[in-house]
Amino acid sequence: MPAHSCRAAADDVAMGIGTPTVDRARLASLTAEEERRFIDRHPRSAAEFDRAKRTLLAGVPMNWMVRWAGAFPPFVEEAAGAHFRCIDGHDYVDFCLGDTGAMAGHGAPATVRAVEAQLRRGITHMLPTEDAIAASAELARRFGLPLWQFTLSATDANRFAIRLAREITGRAFIAVHDHCYHGSVDETFATLDDNGRVVASEGSVGPPVDPALTTRVVEFNDVAGLEAALLDGQVAALLIEPALTNVGIVLPEPGYLDAVREITRRTGTLLINDETHTICAGPGGATGAWRLEPDLLVIGKTIGGGIPVGAYGMTAQVAAQVDAAMPIEQADVGGIGGTLAGYALSMAAVRVTLGEVLTDAAFEQMIPLAERWEAGVASVIRTHAAPWHVTRLGCRAEYHFLPAPPRTGAQQAAHADPHLDRFLHLWAMNRGVLMTPFHNMALMSPATTVADVDRHTEVFGEAVGALFG
Ligand code: PMP
Repeated sequence: MPAHSCRAAADDVAMGIGTPTVDRARLASLTAEEERRFIDRHPRSAAEFDRAKRTLLAGVPMNWMVRWAGAFPPFVEEAAGAHFRCIDGHDYVDFCLGDTGAMAGHGAPATVRAVEAQLRRGITHMLPTEDAIAASAELARRFGLPLWQFTLSATDANRFAIRLAREITGRAFIAVHDHCYHGSVDETFATLDDNGRVVASEGSVGPPVDPALTTRVVEFNDVAGLEAALLDGQVAALLIEPALTNVGIVLPEPGYLDAVREITRRTGTLLINDETHTICAGPGGATGAWRLEPDLLVIGKTIGGGIPVGAYGMTAQVAAQVDAAMPIEQADVGGIGGTLAGYALSMAAVRVTLGEVLTDAAFEQMIPLAERWEAGVASVIRTHAAPWHVTRLGCRAEYHFLPAPPRTGAQQAAHADPHLDRFLHLWAMNRGVLMTPFHNMALMSPATTVADVDRHTEVFGEAVGALFG
């Protein structure tokens, strides 16, 4: 795939990728000041972090939590709606929302009521409840796929979708976009090196086999590259986010997703849309908003309002093939499903979260808030003539340190500036605003307000003012 590598390189030069956009000495001294400030403002979190290190690896219950910008993460006392309070008593506007896990808002009252009631009626019994029917019917309405299964996470749903795709096509390979993220799914930790070869993604821990044996990787928005990867008929499924969100937001160019569907159909490759993050595009995610027609669809995180759950849906045709491939006698040992998957508590949570919280009407409120957030950030960027831009997908928005939107994940990754991220996140945290730690992303919930959004614009404006002087 050298052809598209060359094109990407030419685009890089045109876009100024790899050029630091701020004065490094000023950034270092401002960051040091904010680091001190964070420590001074959080003595109780500091003490708890020291205690945590005795029994928790790196002082956190899950390794991603080491990525917060301060010397330690703020410990949470209580969260409600779009805010939380840390144990040092500071209130934060939460634009991270548990990296989409809490996109429905923290402790949405309707979800809490339904979950409390179900807790008393039985949490898990490996038997269906009526809630499961309502939950699947709502997913079918939103995404246009008739048949659904539930899991404990989006990662699990992706794993099962991939297994089913291999089973019904009899093909070994999976294809993904470069710089994708689909959960801790072995096949997806693959990237393209400078020569267009498939290699393990940077940071991939203990890859079980060389990912070139399982995975083909294509650049986002590269129709010719996709066609080349699928043409030999060895790829069971193409697993995509309709817009990349995990290397920062990269939107599809006009016609790209039509080409994806045409090429996957022509080559007999199943198309799996992972809507775990792109649900931000609307009630039916990007699939609903852009009228996409995947063979399978995966979602997780927010649909349970914080209660662990994932789901995957499929067309009637895929369902018929799945049915034929899974004899009842072996349904429990075939590598699909799990003891707690589809458990009653999660079904109650999904039914109410989709039915009463993350409703079509809620999106009509959340998306304009993200537009306001985007306009605020754009005006700060303009005021300071910063060579940056802001991108939005529905109720999710993000700023990037290059002047125009990139077309591939590699371009986006190449302009990452972790030191600048860290400074901006610390500055915001010290003034009561929490951003997603891995990038500069903000997500609106049904509980987010105009005042929350304007607080971000104000704080971001001050930070950029300090940087550009
Ligand atoms: N798919 C996408 C697109 C994601 O962004 C993520 C998590 N960031 C996952 C799947 C996995 O979700 P989980 O960690 O909840 O399994």
